[in-house]
Amino acid sequence: MTTTRGPVAPARRTWLVDGQARVLAAGEEVLIRRGGVVTRCAGAGVRAFLAAFLAGARDGAVTLDLAEVAAERRPGIEALLARLTEAGLLVELVEDEQAAPVPVGLWRRAGGTVARAEIARRLRERAVTVLGAGRLAELLREQCRDSGLRVTATVGEDPGGIAVVVGAQEEDPLLAEWNERALAEPRGRPWLAVLPYDGQHATVGPWIVPGESACYHCFRLRRASVFPDESIADRLAEAVLLGPAPDHSTRHPGLNLVQAGLVVDRLAERAGLESQAWQSVPGGLTTVTAGPEGVAVAHHRVLRVPRCPRCSPARGVGYPQVWFGRSVEAGR
Ligand SMILES: [Zn+2]
Repeated sequence: MTTTRGPVAPARRTWLVDGQARVLAAGEEVLIRRGGVVTRCAGAGVRAFLAAFLAGARDGAVTLDLAEVAAERRPGIEALLARLTEAGLLVELVEDEQAAPVPVGLWRRAGGTVARAEIARRLRERAVTVLGAGRLAELLREQCRDSGLRVTATVGEDPGGIAVVVGAQEEDPLLAEWNERALAEPRGRPWLAVLPYDGQHATVGPWIVPGESACYHCFRLRRASVFPDESIADRLAEAVLLGPAPDHSTRHPGLNLVQAGLVVDRLAERAGLESQAWQSVPGGLTTVTAGPEGVAVAHHRVLRVPRCPRCSPARGVGYPQVWFGRSVEAGR
């Protein structure tokens, strides 16, 4: 059993009931089934105790004050609770984990490979900065705060800090400026580009790791490369939008929430699990669309463009460059 309690356990303790485990009764015996493993718990009163214990769950957690349990029953109950913890049914919560349950969720997602206390510390300390104006940026700031992330107004020096840049549309200069800035830093920090629904799709990503993944200009080159006329593709990638972009997102509130959820999930995972955050794939891009069958989410990966004038070490070199396949990985 993993716990950070001191040598003397407090009388009042809280356990999370694992949603992946099933509690089954077979006569007086109780069977805990978790995946392909079944743990048997037998003994007088086990079934009745467990039924009452589980019935006391609030938000999936049960608090028990062992000081209120008769002294002669206490060792038996403690042993049973330890067995249920070993069986994977219960996870004992420590400190404020009941009030702030996100670290427990991330811990489960990482298969227990990062300590919950460490995840909680990272979530408290890692700064998340959402740059950009407009409704989507506001929604993301609000949702990040509600999820227990530390939202800051400006990007500080924290090398583990995460920046999210929300453009009004693909051509928003804010994204190009941030791309230049990140590429210019000696150890450019990863950042996430986000675009609201433009009438076709909303995007979360690419997750840009300067020098390692596609940069934002690569993303624009990829998107422009699906255009059949090659001569216009590069011009499209450099073009700026004339006039304000119409906001199509207001007509799709459900889609906006899905998009915000994807962003919050990625950021919480990145902040809490760092290198074990599976969603933080360099160049990872998620598109959200609204079709006749409802809101659909698709995952892609934007590859670097070897001839990218912003990030390629080979830019300006006078021999022919490889150009990756067209019409792929640009969220199409
Ligand atoms: Zn690039």
